[in-house]
Amino acid sequence: MALHTAEAIVLRRYPFRETSVTLSCLTDQFGKLKGLVKGLRRQPNRYQSAMEPLTINRITFYDTRTSQLHLISQCDLVDPLMAIQQDLPTAQVAAFCVDLVDTVVPLEDPQPATYRLLRQTLHHLALGGNDLDWLRIYFVVRVLHLAGFRPRLDHCTGCDAVVHDQGYWSVKQGGLVCERCLHTDPQAEKASPEALHMLDALAQAEEPLVVVPTLIPLLRRRLDDFLRWHLERPLKTMAY
Ligand SMILES: [Zn+2]
Repeated sequence: MALHTAEAIVLRRYPFRETSVTLSCLTDQFGKLKGLVKGLRRQPNRYQSAMEPLTINRITFYDTRTSQLHLISQCDLVDPLMAIQQDLPTAQVAAFCVDLVDTVVPLEDPQPATYRLLRQTLHHLALGGNDLDWLRIYFVVRVLHLAGFRPRLDHCTGCDAVVHDQGYWSVKQGGLVCERCLHTDPQAEKASPEALHMLDALAQAEEPLVVVPTLIPLLRRRLDDFLRWHLERPLKTMAY
């Protein structure tokens, strides 16, 4: 059994038996992990963190290699990000961000860029005064890009022809269709080249990129449609 230390953002926390908790967290070096903290509810002082969702912690855990549930022997709070909880819309966007990460990131696959993105986004949210709408759009595009799931915006999802700025956005196909494939989804709408360029720029941006205000409602709708199409279960936290 190897002993590791990592920085971890708690994504989800569940009571386990009488006194313990299991949790899902995203770590800086080891990707998403499932962990067990024994006795955390009975002896919270033994640990320096209650491992609440949306907090940043330093954890020490045993890699059992035989199970995907790792025993966390120590957890210290690095940043409680308290400010996030003081504003309901901010807390809702933050809850959506961790929910999305928990859904699209596979277990035990190191994702340092996704870790940095989540940490940076939560810090931005904690600063307050942000335009939540564009930050949410930026986060969704980047997470999907890093996870390799973002909608294909340069080729037709039907016949693979290059579409560039000439495509139609199909909710049903999860991306663009060309004019010849339009019969597969007559409801597809002509894609706005400006929106496509913005999505492309967001996907490449390693720092939060402000979304042109006039594009926010359209991009929000497109991305939420795409998430509903892509995900097996709709996210409850998507509603905000
Ligand atoms: Zn086509």
